[in-house]
Amino acid sequence: MAFDKLLIANRGEIACRVIRTAKRMGYSTVAVYSEADAQAPHVQLADEAVCIGAPAPRDSYLNMDAVLAAAKTTDAGAIHPGYGFLSENAAFAEACEQAGIIFVGPQAEAISAMGDKASAKDLMMKAKVPCVPGWQGEDQSAKNITAQAEKIGFPLLIKAVAGGGGRGMRRVDNASEIKEALASAVREAESSFGDGTVMLEKLIERARHVEVQVFGDSHGSVVHLFERDCSAQRRRQKVIEEAPSPSVTPQMRDQLGADAIAAAKAINYRGAGTIEFILDEDGNHYFLEMNTRLQVEHPVTEMITGLDLVEWQLRVAAGEALPLPQEDISFSGHAIEARLCTEDPYQDFTPQTGTVQLWQAEEATGRRFDMGIETGSEISPFYDSMVGKLIAHGNTRTDAIRSLSNSLAKSVFLGVPSNKNFLAELVASPSFADASLHTGLIDEWNETQHDILAVKTPQDKEWALAALLLAIRTTQNWFHSSGLASTRFDLVYGEDDKTAHLLSTGENQWRVSIAETQVDCTLLNKTDNKLVCLLDGVKTVCHFAYTDNGLYLACTGNSFLFTEPDMLDSNQADKDPSIALAPLTGTIVQVNVKPGDAIEKEDVLCIIEAMKMETRVSAKATGRVAEVSINTGDQVKEGDLLVQLEVGEDNG
Ligand code: ADP
Ligand code: ADP
Ligand code: MG
Repeated sequence: MAFDKLLIANRGEIACRVIRTAKRMGYSTVAVYSEADAQAPHVQLADEAVCIGAPAPRDSYLNMDAVLAAAKTTDAGAIHPGYGFLSENAAFAEACEQAGIIFVGPQAEAISAMGDKASAKDLMMKAKVPCVPGWQGEDQSAKNITAQAEKIGFPLLIKAVAGGGGRGMRRVDNASEIKEALASAVREAESSFGDGTVMLEKLIERARHVEVQVFGDSHGSVVHLFERDCSAQRRRQKVIEEAPSPSVTPQMRDQLGADAIAAAKAINYRGAGTIEFILDEDGNHYFLEMNTRLQVEHPVTEMITGLDLVEWQLRVAAGEALPLPQEDISFSGHAIEARLCTEDPYQDFTPQTGTVQLWQAEEATGRRFDMGIETGSEISPFYDSMVGKLIAHGNTRTDAIRSLSNSLAKSVFLGVPSNKNFLAELVASPSFADASLHTGLIDEWNETQHDILAVKTPQDKEWALAALLLAIRTTQNWFHSSGLASTRFDLVYGEDDKTAHLLSTGENQWRVSIAETQVDCTLLNKTDNKLVCLLDGVKTVCHFAYTDNGLYLACTGNSFLFTEPDMLDSNQADKDPSIALAPLTGTIVQVNVKPGDAIEKEDVLCIIEAMKMETRVSAKATGRVAEVSINTGDQVKEGDLLVQLEVGEDNG
């Protein structure tokens, strides 16, 4: 069973993370990549790399034949699938075995047994693991499902049995909502997973998500590595994870561990796996599902136990016994992870694409950065919006919170809007601190437009520094920029434009006036991306990256794109109700209108998919469709023209 070369069938941060441990253990590594990822960090990190196809996942990272062919060509003895993509694909695990290649993961049978949420629940009930009350069965007719729903009571969840990543799930609050919720859950499940079968589950309100890391080997041993708490979620996807859980007592921990081991033993589990539970307000836990792979959030377990889970995976895959028995596994301190995603939290978390102008981690003891990008990386619309993870460990939970919040605020990510600042504020929020946060809270905040999700705008000092940096950009020898004794500078942020007056008050000293405010700035040091200055006497550090006609600037946890005034055109077009522009870069998956159609304001014109999320583009006015510039399947760039309207009279 021995192997000495490992192929990593994944991309991004997880591919980089697996390669690191493999190298440390002396394995040779092979990366695979799509045409969109030729320059990606995981390709540079591996010893060898093979292009396996076009950017769309089904043409590359999901293409089993291409991955297996790459393993054959490079003579790799084992394949690590990471998470997502082929990691929970029983047919792939099977195909690896057929080809004489070790699949670093469980047996195909274990993947199948847990792949379907309904059969997994059957198995768990047999193993006496507590499950959420609900219904699952053959008769999928609306009539039967309605009858079963009435029996369970409301609120409940309709869940796709093949679901994953929070998709194919609908909340139902009363009988009248069933029909529509059922139809839309089935539709989403069919299009995302090719299987529309659903089940019903009582909805646990104000729930916490607690999961247990388990590990099995091929000699029959199974251990657990304690729990993780992933209650900070957005659209049922994890945003922040921590270990241990602040809502689990030592007694609960023992019971959770015992139930998780029973679950894994029921399927003779081998390798890394996670048993997910939902915790109700009284502290009762119920089985949700099992993920038969390494989880995104595994680093928090590594940081409290001091173990390397990828090392364990590779040892188990090579046929070795688990490195430690249960009694030798312990944890200390507290670890928290935040998922850095290129999405705009202040605009309904819309996915964002573009070029990373600057990434700089704020390193410190106890911090870890698992990144899939670097300065210069392109964020394409083809894959998940998660670009990396920031993790912090502390002696106490409060220490870990402080460290992670600081890491998020001070690390620099410029060029593509991200959730970095939102994460910093979320980790530091009272709801996170006292662990009162439940799995639905961030969605509630989004609906009620909570302050934490209110659009952030630059402060005066940021306007001032942006103006100064743009003004001195063109000056070669800026330390003696005598040519700039007094000047004015116009700049734009979003829909705001301001004029800054810059007055030289001494060598490397400026007084910047913007509207009513004056800021005194003494430049201390400036490199390509970093400015150190005294701002009204306070030493301040900010990071920036020039663009063709402006700059990205980060002084606080936020970053802002300032431009010179002539970029107003696209803003103007944005406001014109007769044209619909692509709000983001992606693929057109549905076109709802054709020329001549009468439409109402807010009608959905088309749907764009990017980063596994669908975004609806709706009409900004009532009227008639004049021209449709797109077809289903087209790739569009942010700002591309989609549909033109003749605006009707009843519209202002
Ligand atoms: P974790 O439980 O490890 O946090 P997530 O549910 O966030 O995992 O999923 C991990 C990755 O795998 C994400 O990129 C997610 O979008 C993807 N993923 C999870 N389940 C599926 C699935 N059934 N089909 C496609 N992608 C999936
Ligand atoms: P996925 O495969 O998409 O990860 P899960 O069954 O693990 O699906 O559920 C994802 C999330 O949805 C959970 O973490 C939780 O927030 C929510 N959820 C799932 N089932 C329930 C339930 N019965 N009651 C309340 N929330 C639930
Ligand atoms: Mg889950």
